[in-house]
Amino acid sequence: MNATVAVQTLYNVRQSLRVMKENYHMSWREIALENICKGVSIGSLCRIYHGFEPGNKIRKQLGIVELLPAEACVKCGKVHTKNTCPDAPKRAHKYHYVTIDGHDYRVTKAVKEYIDQLEGASK
Ligand SMILES: [Zn+2]
Repeated sequence: MNATVAVQTLYNVRQSLRVMKENYHMSWREIALENICKGVSIGSLCRIYHGFEPGNKIRKQLGIVELLPAEACVKCGKVHTKNTCPDAPKRAHKYHYVTIDGHDYRVTKAVKEYIDQLEGASK
């Protein structure tokens, strides 16, 4: 295995570990000597293989893009890629209705106020 790719993803690294372990039946000691694993302990490699999310020190050694701190949402505490929170309670939309001849019609606020005015005047 060659470390010619500058930037790896954790998925790629895990895939490589899986191939070396499951297809080539290499020991962790042998895997640790491979180029892509240089400097990373056997224990860390084994844990990554089993799903462990490595920190930035190990990510750097494996050529994986580093994790950067991101501000969490004040509403739900999660990190979003968009500026809006999908978990925030939605504000109920206020519609205006007028009843004409027994039918409800959805109208704008201005129309509602105008009709209310007319009805108030006719009373
Ligand atoms: Zn949120």
